[in-house]
Amino acid sequence: MRYMMRAALLLAAVSALVSAPAAQAPSSATTAVHARQVKRLLIRNAMVIPGPAVPPSGPIDILLEDGLIARMGSSAGGRWPSADATIDATGKYVMPGIVNTHMHWHEERVGPLPIQYERDLYLAAGVTTAREVGGDFEKTKQWRAESAAHKIVAPRIVHYPMLANLVKPGETFNASPAEHRALVRQAKERGADGIKLIGPMDRDQVAATLDEARKVGLPTTVHVAVGEATARDFVDLGVNCIEHFYGVADAALDGIQDFPPEMNYANEIHRFGRAGELYTQKNLNPEKLSKLLDDMVAKHVAWSPTMSTYEAARDLIRAQNLPWYKELLHPSLEEYYKPSMTRHGTFWTGWTATQEVRWRKNYQVWMAAVREFALKGGIVTTGDDAGYLYGSLYGFGISRELELHEEAGFHPLEVLQHATSNGAKVIGMEDRLGRVRVGFIADLLVINGNPIENLRVMNPYGTDRMSYNGQIIDNYSGIVKPGDPNVKSVHGGGIEWTIKDGIPYHVPALVAEVKDLVAKGRGERTRTTSPQQ
Ligand SMILES: [Zn+2]
Repeated sequence: MRYMMRAALLLAAVSALVSAPAAQAPSSATTAVHARQVKRLLIRNAMVIPGPAVPPSGPIDILLEDGLIARMGSSAGGRWPSADATIDATGKYVMPGIVNTHMHWHEERVGPLPIQYERDLYLAAGVTTAREVGGDFEKTKQWRAESAAHKIVAPRIVHYPMLANLVKPGETFNASPAEHRALVRQAKERGADGIKLIGPMDRDQVAATLDEARKVGLPTTVHVAVGEATARDFVDLGVNCIEHFYGVADAALDGIQDFPPEMNYANEIHRFGRAGELYTQKNLNPEKLSKLLDDMVAKHVAWSPTMSTYEAARDLIRAQNLPWYKELLHPSLEEYYKPSMTRHGTFWTGWTATQEVRWRKNYQVWMAAVREFALKGGIVTTGDDAGYLYGSLYGFGISRELELHEEAGFHPLEVLQHATSNGAKVIGMEDRLGRVRVGFIADLLVINGNPIENLRVMNPYGTDRMSYNGQIIDNYSGIVKPGDPNVKSVHGGGIEWTIKDGIPYHVPALVAEVKDLVAKGRGERTRTTSPQQ
């Protein structure tokens, strides 16, 4: 955690306007303890980003009590109850914890992976709530309870199984609408928070599933695929949220996508290669697309686009060479990412420059559609769907997702709204989660830097910043003249504390644990793959 310690020392005053000399920087001014449940936790002197696209204000003190935000204002004067622990947030920014609306826990799916590796990385990236949209039903149910009881170090878990997750291993469910209904009822009885539908689906299956979910009171989200039902059907039949990008453009085509004769949907190269041509189809009708977006808004259908998931498809070499792989990429995942003809999302064999160009153009139209949807009043959220495609690593995926939302045309404050209060709305917790507000759940991030100035400070690896005489400054600052010898590039940023239910998790400690798990995994792999002596 060398870089984080350096960051803590260097970034005592991170705002471009704060001018405290670095020599006075508090190096260990916190008394909070990693992962310890305290009755009263005081955060002192923070710049606060309160929630839905509202600019920061401060400095503000925040008192957390029994996991809730109890007081905000000034703790000076001795009128506030005394705190059991304190975080000095001088020069730091505080915002609500992130709701990741699309993720999966992997223990076996990508090869053996310690579950704590994923939990730590998500917390390190500021994810305090994780909506799992398909996984091992009983495991997730158990982890949801353990997280709620603070028995494990993990984000809060919201459990949206796929219907296939309810069927016993090795069994398959028949395609009838009646069985879809039966499985929805079973999900309700077994304690699901919602249902994740996944295409390709026929319209009668969609109708039955959504109707039954409505009857039993389970919210729904869908990964639309290329099937009979497009986003038009899901929206008309009452789904609550759409994942990814599939299905939305399909519903706006005059006719269907121009698939070539060799198209084989079971071949991941065909499936992902052609998916990257969806939004640039010649028969995409912008009026039809706008009408669909209007109807989504009118029917309160949210959109969780997961832009970071597919980024390797538009820039494979970038995704294969991210600097945090060196110490933080678990060998099971490293192995999973490699090109293959069998593993989901590893369609890189022979990947071409032309395919990347098409994906880039696909992103442009897709991003414009997401922006148009939000401008019409639609709810956009952030999800990472990490652990399948190169580059999409737990936690890092959500950090990158924020950057891509900015690329789609959103102000960083709007991006943070997507990640916080919009996410809370989609999981039905907007009355108590996703804002820095008295009475709300104390899910908060204490950040080494201003995310409005640079969303990349949210990345668990941190980022390079401009230092002037030892102080971090905005690199547009007028005080800097070309050739100025006082300017240095330093590594900084990162979230310092991720607070969930009032419990502070020190991100450098989480990242250190991840490094240990990776080193251990690499050691085991070396032992098992080396020839016997
Ligand atoms: Zn997914």
